[in-house]
Amino acid sequence: MGTSLKPGVVSGKDYKALLAACKAGGYALPAVNVTGTNTINATLEAAAKNKADVIIQLSNGGAEFYAGKGCPDSFQAKVLGAVSAARHVHLLAEQYGVCVVLHTDHANKKLIPWVEAMIDHGEKFYEQTGKPLFSSHMLDLSEEDIGFNLSECARILKRLNKIDMSIEIELGVTGGEEDGVGSDHIDNAKLYTQPEDCLKAYGMLSPLGHFSLAASFGNVHGVYKPGNVKLRPEILKNAQALVQKTHGTVANPLDLVFHGGSGSEKDKIAESLKYGVFKMNIDTDTQFVFSHEVGNFVEANIKAFKYQIDPDDGTPYKKLYDPRKWLRLGEEGIVKRLDEAFADLRSAGKSLALKKTEGLAA
Ligand SMILES: [Zn+2]
Repeated sequence: MGTSLKPGVVSGKDYKALLAACKAGGYALPAVNVTGTNTINATLEAAAKNKADVIIQLSNGGAEFYAGKGCPDSFQAKVLGAVSAARHVHLLAEQYGVCVVLHTDHANKKLIPWVEAMIDHGEKFYEQTGKPLFSSHMLDLSEEDIGFNLSECARILKRLNKIDMSIEIELGVTGGEEDGVGSDHIDNAKLYTQPEDCLKAYGMLSPLGHFSLAASFGNVHGVYKPGNVKLRPEILKNAQALVQKTHGTVANPLDLVFHGGSGSEKDKIAESLKYGVFKMNIDTDTQFVFSHEVGNFVEANIKAFKYQIDPDDGTPYKKLYDPRKWLRLGEEGIVKRLDEAFADLRSAGKSLALKKTEGLAA
């Protein structure tokens, strides 16, 4: 029998067991960027429907939106929005019967205080519950020099490791733009991570705790005209081979993250799974389907968005303009797009969560 885990938020050794199962099984989990309860609940619904485990994550902008754009202190909104979203997931994930990894997304040098403030909350939560609030935070110092990048990641990882948390780091730069953290000015060579840098990261960070690595192999945030993006998964293969050879590890020692999964070619996604990718971020495509479904509904029912009562025949439109009606369509759009993501990543049907009928002695 394979590994079984209690449904709900996983962290520490359970998180490591989950991603080891992904790599051993040649599949990966979608990491879905969320901005509120609609996007979180739709992600949980899609995971349950696909009998798959899932990663839920917040960018700093997503966290701020979760707390409310009108919240007067924007820094506190970024911190408390993330904390609030995490608590929502802790409360509900088990009900959906799947394992959920809680993550945060890109934090550049300016956002280090954001990460540290979330860790403050995570430490308090750990004291109270014995579990961290998030499974892992991302620190993206890929625009800084590698010495600073790795020493800062090491400093933060030491703190995270004490509360059973992991870190995700980035080497090389993901193209495109995410939440205003853009990289259009970066030269092309930086879009491809150097295997030697991965080796340096492994040597420095693996003795301190668990880390995952967003390596760049031509991937970009956002969706662009076909032909503009050249994915080269063999970069991942070369990085894995170098670490394996130098440190005498098992195959695929690095836990790799694929950023900018939206709009990527399906065969390149499949190929990356062979080289230790366990997490693929998706944001742009789920944003689009949500708005697309809502847009279709507005177009088909335009009068209900202009009048409470039809000015010509007196029909009341309450059932159509009730936001629950069209927000639900947006949620259903996300579920449909995630059906596709779970299939692309081969994680449908692979949830490690114990079914209610199974015993714990697996
Ligand atoms: Zn990213």
